[in-house]
Amino acid sequence: MKVAVMGVAGRMGQELVRAAHAAGCSIVGGVEREGSPAIGSDVGVVAGLTPLGVSVTSDALDAISRCDGILDFTSPKATVEFAALAANARAVHVIGTTGLTPGDEAQIAAAARHAPIVKAGNMSLGVNLLMALTRRVAEALDEDFDIEIVEMHHRDKVDAPSGTALMLGAAAAEGRGLDLRQHSVRARDGVTGPRRRGDIGFASLRGGSVVGEHRVIFAGPGERVELAHVAGDRSVFARGAVKALLWGHGRAPGLYSMSDVLGL
Ligand code: NAD
Repeated sequence: MKVAVMGVAGRMGQELVRAAHAAGCSIVGGVEREGSPAIGSDVGVVAGLTPLGVSVTSDALDAISRCDGILDFTSPKATVEFAALAANARAVHVIGTTGLTPGDEAQIAAAARHAPIVKAGNMSLGVNLLMALTRRVAEALDEDFDIEIVEMHHRDKVDAPSGTALMLGAAAAEGRGLDLRQHSVRARDGVTGPRRRGDIGFASLRGGSVVGEHRVIFAGPGERVELAHVAGDRSVFARGAVKALLWGHGRAPGLYSMSDVLGL
């Protein structure tokens, strides 16, 4: 499968090159934003591999038109632009970018009418299993059990709560039959009053080089159930993304999730 990696010089971009290469994909493009110091460098070298004979470019249109699928962990603005280009080229688009607005999501859904898109705020197998478990536990324990979601990430992460925390919140709300938008509490400060029954709370910690930790707490009268996932390094997301790419190859247009890929 011929693949282009978007945001190739980024933390995830480099992981994606290594994972796609290890899975036997042919890397035919590496794209970076205009002005990036990586432009012109060899994609393999940027990712810490031996040279692959492909130079990093800012010409996304050209890179996408020459591949079967793209791996995209960049920024919301870039991802929306790439979704339109991938739809035109009928290429599989694997989206790991987080912080997408409802407007971005709508544009991505429109692009998915023309080509397969696999989108997940977290591509790891363990987190997707955690999501399925969260839905089940939320369904089994009634509103006597308050749900709180705590996440921690490295100091450079720009959005909060993490995309994964929001997905876990959505899974918990689904299990409870609630609308997350009406029950999510994103911040507490000062005299907030007692906790509202049925709310789903989020807390975000930032620091150091933490790759990603998530804990879903079900706190009831006299007992507490906790489900947790710790990502040891970023390769777990890249391996999941490559799995999604291979799964999406040749599939009908549509917006898919990691649950579809993993059959959860
Ligand atoms: P990063 O800043 O290290 O990398 C992003 C890269 O994208 C940068 O190199 C940047 O120059 C490049 N970029 C930005 N705009 C571009 C454009 N228009 N064209 C080409 N390249 C462009 O960030 P990161 O830690 O690699 O994370 C990237 C995204 O992936 C974030 O949204 C993050 O939250 C998300 N993420 C998702 C998962 C998951 O499993 N879904 C896992 C980790 C990170």
